[in-house]
Amino acid sequence: MKDWKDFVEIWDIVLKNGKSSENNRFMEVYGVYGTSFNHSEEFRCFMARDKREKFLIVSGGSVFDLFEGDKFNISGNIVKKCPLSNHNSSLIRNIFPYTEPVTVGENPASIGLGDRLGLASAGHLRLIKGKAVFPVLAQQSIRELNLTGRTYDDVLAAAVWAVFQEGYKKGYGADGDHLKTEEEVRMALKCGFTMITLDCSEYIDNSIEGLSPEELMDQYELIDESVMAYWERKYLNRTLKFGDYELSINIRELASAVLIYSDAIDFAESIYKTAIRDYDRAVDFEISIDETLTPTSVKAHYIIAAELQGGGVKIKNMAPRFCGEFQKGIDYKGDTGQFANEFELHSKIAEYFGYRISVHSGSDKFSVFPIIGDKTHGSVHLKTAGTNWLEALRVVALENPGLFRRMYKYAIKRLPDAKKFYHIFTEREMVQNIEKYSDGNLPELLEKEESRQALHITYGYLLCDKDSGGRYIFREEFFATLHTYEETYYDFLKKHIGRHLDLLGI
Ligand SMILES: [Zn+2]
Repeated sequence: MKDWKDFVEIWDIVLKNGKSSENNRFMEVYGVYGTSFNHSEEFRCFMARDKREKFLIVSGGSVFDLFEGDKFNISGNIVKKCPLSNHNSSLIRNIFPYTEPVTVGENPASIGLGDRLGLASAGHLRLIKGKAVFPVLAQQSIRELNLTGRTYDDVLAAAVWAVFQEGYKKGYGADGDHLKTEEEVRMALKCGFTMITLDCSEYIDNSIEGLSPEELMDQYELIDESVMAYWERKYLNRTLKFGDYELSINIRELASAVLIYSDAIDFAESIYKTAIRDYDRAVDFEISIDETLTPTSVKAHYIIAAELQGGGVKIKNMAPRFCGEFQKGIDYKGDTGQFANEFELHSKIAEYFGYRISVHSGSDKFSVFPIIGDKTHGSVHLKTAGTNWLEALRVVALENPGLFRRMYKYAIKRLPDAKKFYHIFTEREMVQNIEKYSDGNLPELLEKEESRQALHITYGYLLCDKDSGGRYIFREEFFATLHTYEETYYDFLKKHIGRHLDLLGI
């Protein structure tokens, strides 16, 4: 059995002959990711794997001593076998600038591919190969960091290793997703993140939608007169044009938009001015008003867009809350005709004001992807996250059914706790009984909405919970299974996320 050490014996020949056509053979024979074999002057390095883990091999150059790892002498070649640590990843970022995250730039389409496990990104890079889409590989919310016990440094390092492993040089983004405070925004920027998604939900007043017309106007009347005059002068009963479209806003619509969104607009403007605008590098700034109970009406969207523009706030994306439901892990629920009509107007407003629509919880929304692709002409950001976790569980269902059964039952037990963080329709009693499924049929559970949702949102407990002896219940066996079946996982991702891109027309 040959391994990475045998590869070091032949790497002079590999360099001389050019390597690319033999990348697959290097994996089969030596466990070496051929696409990662790279050099910079005297420095040489590559990534490899054994039965237990992945690692980095480095040699030569003035940076050699900076890497943490164990030294080996292989026929006179002094090399170091290094863990895929955050420290080593930041060295790789310095040596190979293509591994640094960048902004989306002129790319029309981008896709957020949040990877809660730090394992999926290489598969994501394989699936977007040859497609005109910019990948945002590192993308986590603070909620996800808390539930998985990771930091932004960990999340970014995982993306760097994936980019390096695959030899991907076309640029990728890193999204500090659903950040709610200036402190969180600054922390993500400091870690190197290139995109900030500001979650304005805590500044959105969800009580307004339920008010009667009289109650609504009573509340509106409480607004300071000069402020009210400002809103009415700008928006009330005027023809507001955006491209070939126009709309007009009556007093009730205006009152409602002002009461629901004016604090959120102020918040977005203040974060932009204090933390984003003067930052020492470019940042893709996204405004999210999606994680709230109140759907964003087209007219309210127009007002928000016009106010942000008036306040000098430059945004890359806006994530409205659309009609219908975008629940985790399942298809769109709602009236697709109404969605198509409203989405067209939302995307025209975005186009007019010079940003893109961002669609959140975008995993598995197959029935609306063609509409999204069509109305935006592919100029859109789609965020997906949890679905690659479900694809990881598909690998477990297929290759380690015993583990899958234990995890499944535990997910059902923990479902009520997870529901405190995520809005889904599935209740504990609704989740399919796994005893009715033979081992061979377990992957079918990943086609059922209820079991998908239960598994989708309990990831934090499944990954991080420990038994009474302080040992992880599933974590080690889960990661070991995915390590063994790495290629299977990439294939599943390619098939599943690939379907998203196909339907979007990308
Ligand atoms: Zn969101």
